[in-house]
Amino acid sequence: MELSDVSADLSEVLFTEQQIADKLAELARRIEADYAGDRPLLVGVLKGAVMVMADLARELKIHLDMDWMAVSSYGAGTQSSGVVRILKDLDTDVQGRRVLIVEDIIDSGLTLSWLKANLATRGAASVEICALLRKPDAVKVDVDVRYLGFDIPNAFVVGYGLDYAETYRNLRGVGVLSPHVYQ
Ligand code: 5GP
Ligand code: MG
Ligand code: MG
Repeated sequence: MELSDVSADLSEVLFTEQQIADKLAELARRIEADYAGDRPLLVGVLKGAVMVMADLARELKIHLDMDWMAVSSYGAGTQSSGVVRILKDLDTDVQGRRVLIVEDIIDSGLTLSWLKANLATRGAASVEICALLRKPDAVKVDVDVRYLGFDIPNAFVVGYGLDYAETYRNLRGVGVLSPHVYQ
């Protein structure tokens, strides 16, 4: 679905399909250089990271493995608390592997900092993060995002994997959801 198909629901277009593709190509060149001679394990965080994973993995000109985790972050209201429950774990043993976590967006950063520590305790040789989007609050938690697409303002965004109540994940681009949709 195109951003223009739901333009009435968006207050702003942030990134088009082409802008995202160009950015992922940039990140892919860095990842190829950093992992040359290795076979990284890309760990996608369901469900939001599906589009980033699909496009980044196909852009990468190195062999890699892909696996998936689903986690839920408990918290009061819309704030995530950092208490994370694993809903679906990896099928892969990460012992000795160079792991690259692939995420759609970092807001509080609590989910990712928990996940990074969790994978490290399983004996991964390294754990790095690739995220398409980062919100300003993420700076409060000291989570190192080695491969970042874009810093964005503190707004609720949808598209390219990101949902509102499971809708909009299949948008080709990313936009700010207009408040009239959820108010
Ligand atoms: P946090 O970094 O706060 O622990 O959690 C990040 C998760 O919250 C993301 O993976 C995503 O599922 C969700 N999230 C945070 N900000 C947004 C947003 O603007 N739009 C959407 N659709 N999800 C968001
Ligand atoms: Mg996510
Ligand atoms: Mg969601």
